[in-house]
Amino acid sequence: MGKNYTKVYLTVLGLISVISLFIALKSSGNREEIEKLRKEVNLLREELTKKEEQLKKAVEEKEKLARKLKSIEEKIKKANKTLRRKGIKIKLPQGGLFIPADRKENLEFYASTLENSMEKLLKVMAEIPVGVPLYGRLTSRFGYRKDPFNGKLAFHAGIDLRAQPRQPVFATANGIVKFAGWSGGYGKLVIIKHKYGYETYYGHLFKIRVKKGQRVKAGTVIGYAGSTGRSTGVHLHYEIRRYGRLLNPLKYLYLNRYNAF
Ligand SMILES: [Zn+2]
Repeated sequence: MGKNYTKVYLTVLGLISVISLFIALKSSGNREEIEKLRKEVNLLREELTKKEEQLKKAVEEKEKLARKLKSIEEKIKKANKTLRRKGIKIKLPQGGLFIPADRKENLEFYASTLENSMEKLLKVMAEIPVGVPLYGRLTSRFGYRKDPFNGKLAFHAGIDLRAQPRQPVFATANGIVKFAGWSGGYGKLVIIKHKYGYETYYGHLFKIRVKKGQRVKAGTVIGYAGSTGRSTGVHLHYEIRRYGRLLNPLKYLYLNRYNAF
């Protein structure tokens, strides 16, 4: 659009010059003719002013848009920083500095760079186990607690969520099933291996619905809640590990201050 206005501007400017020259040459000629030409010149001047105003408005609009895009870029950078604090490094496409508002192609390029960054972030988000594996009340937290069987202090490696019998259990991120079967105290257990070193554990299942080696998506039903293994009632035992280290799943259940993207 900017280019078009510039063209119009130059054309009108050229016309005025030609007409002015014509008037100068014919200054000794027909008065009526001169008056007519003057009127035309004035009309063209008005047109020019109008176009100039339109151009100014268009440039202002684009500057506004550029500022908005810049603020989106800042937010994307912030989200990336949050991920970096969690030890997840993603290289985002470079958006660049301020782009002159009258250059449409640049603004479009800028917007599509941001779109690509956003897509990349969304993809990464689907790989991180953030979310709820089962909708149920939290009945036991991560860390040291009294063992429900013998009352002694013991470390609880995950969280427990109370469940209805056979309530569906969801994978909390994309991944590959690493284990699906019986595992001592866990009863029927599913372990899913995710990107960035994450693993999630789903224990005491009544029934397993996935097989070892199977690819799952965030939200896939991997089984149904039960009370198999060392369990006192129907519930889901949920664990998150990263590079073998136990993490507190509570910090991964919701998009809270620890997980704000
Ligand atoms: Zn548990």
